[in-house]
Amino acid sequence: MKLGAIEAGGTKFVLAVGNDQGELLEKEVIPTDPPEVTMPKVIAFFEGKGIERLGVGSFGPIDINKESATYGSLQKTPKTDWVDYPLGKELQDKLGVPVVLDTDVNVAAMSEAKWGNASDVDSCLYITVGTGIGAGAYMGGQTLKGLSHPEMGHILVRRHEKDDYEGGCPYHGDCLEGMAAGPHIEKRWGKAASELQELEEVWEIEAYYLAQALVNYIYIVSPERIVMGGGVMKQKQLFPLIRKKVLELLNGYVSSPSLTEETIDDYIVPPGLTDEAGVKGALYLAM
Ligand code: ADP
Ligand code: ZN
Repeated sequence: MKLGAIEAGGTKFVLAVGNDQGELLEKEVIPTDPPEVTMPKVIAFFEGKGIERLGVGSFGPIDINKESATYGSLQKTPKTDWVDYPLGKELQDKLGVPVVLDTDVNVAAMSEAKWGNASDVDSCLYITVGTGIGAGAYMGGQTLKGLSHPEMGHILVRRHEKDDYEGGCPYHGDCLEGMAAGPHIEKRWGKAASELQELEEVWEIEAYYLAQALVNYIYIVSPERIVMGGGVMKQKQLFPLIRKKVLELLNGYVSSPSLTEETIDDYIVPPGLTDEAGVKGALYLAM
């Protein structure tokens, strides 16, 4: 059986045809332009390929409540051309196949749990630190959903004593995303994040915010593994800084063999699937 998969991201759409064994057969990447430019390309890619279902992991916020009249519609996304765009309905109408949607980060968590760096455990939290910050989770055979999807990038964090950046989230100012997403590192220091590698203070402050977030996620969600991806996490020196700070903040309160100095390197990890986590997760949704 042929299945379709889309990773709908803020900068690019990854389109793929796969099979019900989870194998990708064909892939194409197109830029995320306004819907009237991007969507005809998406439809053209899948037309005539004989897919029987389509899975989509999308940027958000997006309505993923299956009972809702606006299931599959984008919401207050900073990508203003896409606000209220009925992505799911449009795909279903034009391609004539059932469409199932989830957030990009939920799908990445599922993908890492199935095929990536969390395939040896039953639950996993995936956080991306890039243009924005978002996290998803896969537990008990399902991704984490409720009213809608979690918005773990917008939690409140305690300010670092050496940091006077005011914070740049349009909704909350100094929430986690407003303090620690890539564009805010760049505004705070006046340089591309990729060029700040040698400046220790940058990563100490960054790790301070991200570690607080992980500790809150550990308390609330209790995942068996945390996978950290996104452009900012290409700064590999962040991993040891974050792990150390997480242990310090937990202060031994959560008793688990995964949360010790000896084992934390295998608990907070980079993605195992690199570029394909999203689209493979979308394929798994369709499966
Ligand atoms: P998106 O979030 O749009 O899907 P990314 O996860 O690649 O895309 O995040 C892009 C952001 O990550 C950029 O705005 C930049 O701030 C940051 N970034 C990208 N590459 C690096 C790098 N090598 N080092 C540090 N930060 C980076
Ligand atoms: Zn916010």
